[in-house]
Amino acid sequence: MNQREMFLRHVAQTSPAPLALEIVKAEGSILTDAKGREYIDLIAGISVCNIGHRHPKVVKAIKQQADEYLHLLVYGELVETPQVEYAKLLTDHLHNSLNSVYFTNSGAEAVEGAMKLAKRATGRTQIIAFNQSYHGSTQGALSIIGDEYFRNAFRPLLPDVLHMDYNDYDAIEAISNRTACVIAESVQAERGIYAPTKEWMKALAQKCKETGTLLILDEIQTGFGRTGTLWGYQQFKVVPDIVLLGKALGGGMPLGAFVANRKLMNHLTADPVLGHITTFGGHPVCCAAGLAAMKVLLKRGIMEKVQEKEMLFHNLLHHPKIKAVRSCGLMMAVEFDSFETNKKVIDACINRKKGQRRVLTDWFLFAPQCLRIVPPLTISNKEIREACEIILEAVDKIK
Ligand code: PLP
Repeated sequence: MNQREMFLRHVAQTSPAPLALEIVKAEGSILTDAKGREYIDLIAGISVCNIGHRHPKVVKAIKQQADEYLHLLVYGELVETPQVEYAKLLTDHLHNSLNSVYFTNSGAEAVEGAMKLAKRATGRTQIIAFNQSYHGSTQGALSIIGDEYFRNAFRPLLPDVLHMDYNDYDAIEAISNRTACVIAESVQAERGIYAPTKEWMKALAQKCKETGTLLILDEIQTGFGRTGTLWGYQQFKVVPDIVLLGKALGGGMPLGAFVANRKLMNHLTADPVLGHITTFGGHPVCCAAGLAAMKVLLKRGIMEKVQEKEMLFHNLLHHPKIKAVRSCGLMMAVEFDSFETNKKVIDACINRKKGQRRVLTDWFLFAPQCLRIVPPLTISNKEIREACEIILEAVDKIK
């Protein structure tokens, strides 16, 4: 049995048609498969590898930490230098009020922790979330995602969740003094990249303040420079009560976090004590990797070039079959008339002739007609030009 056959037999899949590419090396924006074929990576592990794959500083930090210690004890008991230093760096670059970091293993776990914290701190139960938002696949996170097709088979889910339309003032009207929290993505990603207006975001934050509702912003895809600013919410000049981090947080290693004010976070330390527990959350190797990645992101002028690269994609991606290109920094959706058309483009980008470079991309969960462009922020202009040529060649071939 070859690797691919063993993968299909023994590794659980929930996609009926997994890509099943056998990648043996990843460097910068390029993936190489077992047959030596190269792919320009336009999805960066879904917004994870913001500073590119295997950045030497990240690899060095992982090796150094592995030489010192791996897992020691459940989260929050011991002073572990990579956690402490990473929490300090993160809070130095968030609003002053966001000064306490709870590290988790994943984005969904950050969502779970934040929802618990909001219920515990406010004594309220109602959660307002948004249609076409994605927050993860665990039962709590699933309860708040904005798509009935994905939720329905797993009911009963969390009670007292109200789904409203994003960027709609009726949602703001719905917030009341029985709402524990509002959870919103700073930019809706899986809907196919939809940013709210500044006015709406501000009105949302204002209504939360007036009603004592906690505003939770999910920065799991928009964080770490993806939109051109370190955090997506900086585009809207609002400050959340809790911010959710994941994906690029670990520099390619599994890591999530919810960040809040220390006083708010303290609600998880009493009645009950140990209000949120994780064995591996904030693993020292993951924190060391994330810390190194964030330092690279902050020092290397990477975010400063996001807008220029975004414009380059926009200038290149013109074709009568492309209905729209929506973007917020280097998170972009190229919209076609249907999933069938999009799938043909995606497949043609992946399956080119021998010796030709390929492009790895996919679609969005709630927008299957849209092609995902969420590359490493470090992708070069040359790679962008080449990737766009490959996409346009694929679009040309559609019958
Ligand atoms: N929130 C957003 C906006 C996401 O895009 C995702 C994952 O795609 C999550 C939460 C869940 O993160 P994870 O898959 O690490 O649980």
